[in-house]
Amino acid sequence: MTCAELAEALHDYVGGDLVLAVHETFEVHVAGCPECGALVRTYRYTVRLAAALPKCGPLPPAVEARLRAALAAELEDG
Ligand SMILES: [Zn+2]
Repeated sequence: MTCAELAEALHDYVGGDLVLAVHETFEVHVAGCPECGALVRTYRYTVRLAAALPKCGPLPPAVEARLRAALAAELEDG
């Protein structure tokens, strides 16, 4: 598994949705890759923070599009 593949699987990993074989490959990579270890910790922290926020309505479409583009660019850089 490459760092880019790991970044793609990150959401499913944190959500517990990876099949077992992929899950193990993921954890082996994270154990040996400090960058991806930091990525997983940051992602989990962000998910926890977001879950603790009060509920609000959906983002305005323009804001959501910008946010998704920024996140995609960030993942590609990694
Ligand atoms: Zn990595």
